Amino acid sequence: MSSETRQKAAACCTDCGQALAVWVSPSGEMNPIGSAAGCPCGGTSFRMLE
Ligand SMILES: [Zn+2]
Repeated sequence: MSSETRQKAAACCTDCGQALAVWVSPSGEMNPIGSAAGCPCGGTSFRMLE
């Protein structure tokens, strides 16, 4: 088991500001949960929410 390989976090799209849940990898890469293609607007860059 390696449950620490990724962490769930809240982020928002840097293009449209849409908030969504993401998986954050140890390297800091963010992948939207439930939508592998990224944000509905087509954006693939996200900013972590505090
Ligand atoms: Zn977007």
